[in-house]
Amino acid sequence: MKTMKAWRWYDFGDMRLDEIPVPELKPGWVIAKTKVVQPSVTEAIRALGLPTLGVKTIRKLIAERAPIQLFGHEFCAEVVEVGDGVKGLKAGDRVAAGSYVPCHECPLCLTGQPHRCRRGPVIGRHLPGAFAEYLALPAEILVKVPQGVDDHEGAIIQPLSSAVTAVATAKIEMGDTVAIFGQGVMGLYCAQVAKVSGARRVIGVDVREETLSIAKKLGVDVTINAKNDDPVSSILDITNGSGVEVAFECAGGGPEQGLAGSSTLIQTIEVMRDFGKIVQVALFGQPVELDTDVFRQKSLAYLFPEAPGRLAYTVDLLASKRVSVKPTITHLLEGLEKIPEAFEITSNKASYQAINPAQVVISR
Ligand SMILES: [Zn+2]
Repeated sequence: MKTMKAWRWYDFGDMRLDEIPVPELKPGWVIAKTKVVQPSVTEAIRALGLPTLGVKTIRKLIAERAPIQLFGHEFCAEVVEVGDGVKGLKAGDRVAAGSYVPCHECPLCLTGQPHRCRRGPVIGRHLPGAFAEYLALPAEILVKVPQGVDDHEGAIIQPLSSAVTAVATAKIEMGDTVAIFGQGVMGLYCAQVAKVSGARRVIGVDVREETLSIAKKLGVDVTINAKNDDPVSSILDITNGSGVEVAFECAGGGPEQGLAGSSTLIQTIEVMRDFGKIVQVALFGQPVELDTDVFRQKSLAYLFPEAPGRLAYTVDLLASKRVSVKPTITHLLEGLEKIPEAFEITSNKASYQAINPAQVVISR
């Protein structure tokens, strides 16, 4: 039996590089060789068992199935074998994937909305991800990475598609002014996608000068360093006191990960124009106290990113250079054995001055 190296979790914070069988090819699936992979920010938090969305599922999976392959849905891989019935993919094609696999049985799947399915398996939880030499994936969730989009950009297709979804949720109207709290990767992606989607101007807020200067290069019109300037009064000044039509909260989360707690959400609410729309992109990891009367008074909409999807459009944004992700890649590692280091950097991005999660090149 052919074997491969793969990272498996024995417990939170206990990952080991094991030799395990290469996954078997099934009809409708492909086997792919990992080229570049990165832990998502949320995965890096989950891997330590810290509070965030989905950590309960991971706890259950570890309890029931350890040692288990976990995480690894942000990747670029090369198809090595295609199963029966797979159309449009062949050996040698590079692919990225959405993380949710439709079940084809639930009411959403059966009414033509498989991209909204919440019942099917998820890559990196119920299906092994790309922290391994090879992975097996259903072809239906794959997108081809075209020439002109390299492996490093390919590994960012999935998180970029989350930003595309977040911006789509906001239904930006031509000429809207958009504020984005947090200029980490999600903030920088949302900013660029918002510009492509008709925003008149984008205001980016952060406390890190290095990411604000990248934001400027990537087309953010006004940057505010909240360490030096009060973002609320600055944004109200910029908008002649009226506030913004749309805001994305991309800064919140555990202060131990260098994130902003929930104070940026309070600021977001304060800079909204009446009838404005807030999209919560960040995960706070705990309940947040809000004065909902303000939402009532200003008729604000508080939105959450719709179901993921739009992978093909995401690829087009990269291929056509309308969105740029390369300047966010600050840490690059070489070899599968470096995965724990990538998790360490990604879970402590602030102390490593990382913007994107650390990327790992597995094969060339
Ligand atoms: Zn379903």
